[in-house]
Amino acid sequence: MTDEFTTEIYYDEDADVSNIEDKTVAILGYGSQGHAHALNLADSGVDVVVGLRKSSDSREAAEAEGLRVATPTQAAREADVVNMLVPDTVQPYVWEDIREELEAGDTLQFAHGFNIHYGQIEPPEDVDVTMVAPKSPGHLVRRTYERDEGTPGLLAVYQNASDQAFEEGLAYAQAIGCTRAGVIETTFQEEVETDLFGEQAVLCGGVTEMVKAGFETLVDAGYSPEMAYFECLNELKLIVDLMYEGGHMEMWNSVSDTAEYGGLTRGEEVIDREGMEEILEGVQNGEFAREWISENQANRPAYKQYRQAEQDHQIEEVGERLRELFEWGDQE
Ligand code: NAD
Ligand code: MG
Repeated sequence: MTDEFTTEIYYDEDADVSNIEDKTVAILGYGSQGHAHALNLADSGVDVVVGLRKSSDSREAAEAEGLRVATPTQAAREADVVNMLVPDTVQPYVWEDIREELEAGDTLQFAHGFNIHYGQIEPPEDVDVTMVAPKSPGHLVRRTYERDEGTPGLLAVYQNASDQAFEEGLAYAQAIGCTRAGVIETTFQEEVETDLFGEQAVLCGGVTEMVKAGFETLVDAGYSPEMAYFECLNELKLIVDLMYEGGHMEMWNSVSDTAEYGGLTRGEEVIDREGMEEILEGVQNGEFAREWISENQANRPAYKQYRQAEQDHQIEEVGERLRELFEWGDQE
């Protein structure tokens, strides 16, 4: 633990792996997170069973790694800790199949809080409900673990029936490598609301919309699409890398004074803070969740349309041609 941060951060020395070692963990799903959790837990000496449908293509991959595979129902039946690592939109259906298998004192675990926070999964009161969420895609959770490193993670307890939920969650986080980098304590509510807001307003939605708007502004004004692509999309990576390494100041220090002055004085004009607040409100009051749940129930009509429009945007065609010029970059 450290006092330097307002939230608690936990490391290896705070965790006790014996709180998970004698348990059987069911990993439901073998995708990005599922394969990484399953392999890291197994390498840490935890008994793992992977729960996959009979028809799943992932069965062979999991078995080839020496993991035991069962159906989700069988896996949940024998496990003490059941981790839902199927896609969030699929989890409520898998829950219907496994809910009868959870016994008092078992743990239902997640890597994202959507279905608990928005009431799509309502676990019985006598089980623990926790979240261990690596702040990283699964392949890095696995790769860093193999190098004796780890990715930072979040830990939250929603229901503490056993009085051991936190200790067990921290031990799980240790077994997948997260306490090597640091585990931040949070709540389901905070994780879900910040995650959805971030991906909508800044990371996925905000950034792509800003790139498209910049590209279109230049192209509509008669500049070449190639120039617009380099300026508005390709160079974004260079800027973000600097921010990632050393914060905004490292970025400002690395660009020209002209870029710095222009950026500092003009950036604000393109940001709609009221729009951001509306996005946050829609996340907090459940409006976005309701929309996304009914969109899924209707087989995703709007999602498909938006996706197609994105696919058909000129920047995709220009980018595909220009990225070939950068193939050398992938070989380093
Ligand atoms: P994914 O899409 O990579 O993998 C899901 C796996 O679930 C599939 O590979 C398959 O094995 C299984 N599956 C798919 N459809 C199924 C069905 N209909 N029935 C049963 N099994 C099915 O998922 P993911 O990205 O690993 O996400 C799992 C959880 O982890 C989610 O809650 C997600 O929010 C969370 N999470 C993901 C990341 C990430 O970077 N990918 C990071 C943090 C948290
Ligand atoms: Mg996310």
